[in-house]
This record gives sequence, structure tokens and C-alpha cells, in this order.
Amino acid sequence: MPEDKITLEHGAGGTAMMKLIKEIILKEFSLKQRGPVGLDELDDGAAVTVGDNTLIFTTDSHTVKPLFFPGGDIGRLAVSGTVNDLAVMGGQPLAMACAVVIREGFPLDDYRRICRSMDTAAREVDVPIVTGDTKVMEKGALDEMIVTTTGIGLAKPLKTDSMLKPGEKVLITGNIGDHGATILACREGIAVEGELKSDVAPIWETVQAAMKAGEVSAMKDPTRGGIAMALNEIASKSKVDIVLEEENIPISKPVRSLTEMLGIDPLTLTSEGRAIICVKAEDCDAVLSAVRKTKYGKDAQVIGEAKEGIGTVVLKMAGGGRRLLRPPIGDPVPRIC
Ligand code: MG
Repeated sequence: MPEDKITLEHGAGGTAMMKLIKEIILKEFSLKQRGPVGLDELDDGAAVTVGDNTLIFTTDSHTVKPLFFPGGDIGRLAVSGTVNDLAVMGGQPLAMACAVVIREGFPLDDYRRICRSMDTAAREVDVPIVTGDTKVMEKGALDEMIVTTTGIGLAKPLKTDSMLKPGEKVLITGNIGDHGATILACREGIAVEGELKSDVAPIWETVQAAMKAGEVSAMKDPTRGGIAMALNEIASKSKVDIVLEEENIPISKPVRSLTEMLGIDPLTLTSEGRAIICVKAEDCDAVLSAVRKTKYGKDAQVIGEAKEGIGTVVLKMAGGGRRLLRPPIGDPVPRIC
């Protein structure tokens, strides 16, 4: 692919996308800040100051293929993706906007089903969809549908990627890679033993329970690029090392089988209903048990801790030895979310 063209990797959430954002977006957009977190921080969203309040503001386009998959669809994904970006910045979702671009000829029944699914997900966290836009493109100009959701939330309080401190523990709220593995298996027609199902869910309740139970610092939803990408972002922005215990990272059997079969690192696969939550060591047990009591936090685990360092992620392997866990170039699967 020529170097002067957009490639699929530019949208896959890894280092290729970061390079594109840094070389074009951060250079061309000159007004970047309206509060404590702006464009340059490249966090899950921005934090905007309004009077005494800090609002979280975020947006996401969804292009997942197929539109319907085990465990969810593009509608549930679009609401969850935006709610979760608000949540991991400490934001209680207040309201959402939804813009849809559809191909001419798209079945009305599917459109209704997707809207209904958005409503179901939005109701779970009591966030109304209050404004939106619908556009239609002619046959051949668009594959099927793009759903863009934008959300505002109220910081309770603000959490950013750069807040992790040495000595703190790192939690994950459930099994990793379920969404990525499900889409991959669906698209390639691969069957594995056991049920592969996307984890897609709006997880504000889980995040809120964690923040109430103890002192939480950085949080992130490990979407494209998986926990490998998300942990590297937290470590590099916080300028501390994260040491991970491989044997404590929860991975379901079907996900493990699929990734072993295809030679993919499960740590780079997308989750759409999980959060990485960093917490003060003495509050770790309380936060873990509070998270496990929530609907989407039952399989939560402590997977590592932060140490003084230079911003790298080190994986202590189950069989002994250590390796550096680098940020992936992109998610192994395109159009995953
Ligand atoms: Mg995010």
C-alpha cells in the first residue's frame, strides 16, 4: 500500500492509527482545549469545564461487520462504546446523540431492530438518546451502515490515563478479547468448542461501584488493540511501568482455542464490555469485591501492578520469564467495532 494513502491499519486502534492522529489531526486542529483534558491528551474523551462542573465529552463511529453477531449488534455496540468511554473517565452518562448513515435498500426491519437494541442498551444505564441525524447513500457507495454516537457525562470525579502511580494495582473487570474473537470467528466461519459471544455492554454501573469502593486512579476500556494497547497508553502517559501476571489474566476457553489456532495474541483482541481499573493497593480487595457484585464484573481479576519506571508494560509469563508487551500496530481484525 502506498505511504500516501489511508490503509485499514489506520483505523485499527494501534500504533499506525496513533501515527496518523499525531501527524495530521493534532497538527491541523489548532484549538484543542476547553477544560482539563483536550485533544492532545488522546484520552477516551475530553473533559470540558462548565461553571463548577466537569463534563466528559466523547464520540465514536461504528462500522462493525457483520451488523448482527452473537451477543450483540451494531446498535448495542454504538451505545456501549460511547457510554464506556465516558465511564472510564469517571463520567456518569447524561445524554447521547446518534448519527446514522445507511445504504439505499437497507431492510427497514433491520434498522428497527438496531434502534431497539440501542434503546435497550441505553436504558441499562438510563442515558436518553436525545438528538441525531440520518443520512442515506446510494447503493454501492456504502457497504451497509455506519453508526456514530456522541455522549456527554458528568465527571464524578474526572479520571485520566495519566493518573496511575507506582504501587497501585491493576484490575480487569472480566474475560478479555471476547468481542474480537467473536467477530473474527463469525467472519471467517470458524467454529471452536464452547460458546463464543461478544461481551459488548454498557459498564457504567461496574465503574461506578469501583469508584465508590476505593481510590481509583486511571481507567480505560480495552477496545481496539486490546489490553496490550490500553495498558501501554496508561503506562506511557503515567510514566510508570506496569508488570502483568499472565496467569491472572482471565481468558475464556473458546477465546484461548481460537487465538491459539490462528496464532493471535489474545492480549491484542478487543473487548467491548470491560474496563481496566487502577486502584490504590490498600483499596484493591474492596474494589475487586464491589466490581464482582455488578452485572458485568463477575469475572474481575487483579492482573498486575504499577512500578517506578519509564512507561513500559512487562508481562511475567505463566511458564516463567518476562517479556515486554508492546503496543500492537493495529487490532488483528479490521472493522471490529
Ligand atoms: Mg476507550
